[in-house]
Amino acid sequence: MNKILKFGALIFLFLVIGSVARAKDPYKLNVIYFLPQGDRPVEGYESRLSDLLLYVQNFYREEMKRNGFGDKTFGLEKTPDKRVKILVIRGKYDIPHYSYDNGGGWKAEREIEQYFKENPGTQKSRHALVIMPSTSGDDMKPGGVPFYGIGKYCFALDYKYFDIKYLGENSEKGHLLTKWFGGMAHELGHGLNLPHNKEQVSEGKKYGTALMGAGNYTLGQKPTFLTKASCAILNNCEVFAKKEREYYNKNTGFQLKDLEVTFPADEIVVKGTFGTEIPVDAVNVYIDHAPFGQVNNDYDAESWTVKPDKNNRFTLRIPRSELHTKNIDSFQVRVRFLFENGIITTKAADFNWSSLVPYRLTK
Ligand code: ZN
Repeated sequence: MNKILKFGALIFLFLVIGSVARAKDPYKLNVIYFLPQGDRPVEGYESRLSDLLLYVQNFYREEMKRNGFGDKTFGLEKTPDKRVKILVIRGKYDIPHYSYDNGGGWKAEREIEQYFKENPGTQKSRHALVIMPSTSGDDMKPGGVPFYGIGKYCFALDYKYFDIKYLGENSEKGHLLTKWFGGMAHELGHGLNLPHNKEQVSEGKKYGTALMGAGNYTLGQKPTFLTKASCAILNNCEVFAKKEREYYNKNTGFQLKDLEVTFPADEIVVKGTFGTEIPVDAVNVYIDHAPFGQVNNDYDAESWTVKPDKNNRFTLRIPRSELHTKNIDSFQVRVRFLFENGIITTKAADFNWSSLVPYRLTK
């Protein structure tokens, strides 16, 4: 009897520990080392990439904390010896098939999704960082493979000197590392749902360069940070979750009731009300300067974030002194509604500095 009780208690303990471990970060970023046919991994990739990824994971955590979102970062699966687990997937085709300018990212993504289907349990979330060995043949000029973020996938590259020991070093290898490591941290941001944005004027003085602006050129060399608007998006990203829930269901039941952009002295004021079934826990506003609207024209958009009240109303007052560009050309105010399930809905309105006409939408 006693033995049975002890056994029962032990099982109970395992179940509790198991559920706590699962609850901690139930979703993990898929880290994939993608090797075309005939390609070989760069020597020492497992420990080099593990060190770099843990640094980025901690960078995101520190920025989430600083911006008031608590001790949160993207989950990474670990090996028994505490390294980041990297899944090696062999591509079906040879190196040129996956080149940067040959749509290599899309092709690799399709094969990876197929791999996940054929190997149940290997996919840890919908987000993936795919790293491919450089194919340039020059260790000081890596390149040739996909390097961007599309949807929930992002692509970075590996090369001989992709090693944290060079981080911050004022040397050719140190600067090269910032370019490709800062690049990886930035592309990962895209893979975690982030658009571009630039630091506000006062943030630039305090914290340096926004990672999702030009921070890919500064990480490790000069102060680099994540804006609060970026962190508000990450806060609802699947791989940042502390517990399981349904992510990315587009049926949010959202209805924008009114939206107003006005221009009292020295300010841009954005106000709105909405109805929704899936809660919106933050509203981001971006001021994007001309040219805007096309892909990669948004690096210069300063960003703000505000929490709506319990009646789903929000007001944001933007001091014009926080904008780097003003009084020339036109600009777009982009309002992004951030749903708790990771979905983002955007509404945009265009303006001209020379004739500021308030925008009003009412339903
Ligand atoms: Zn980018």
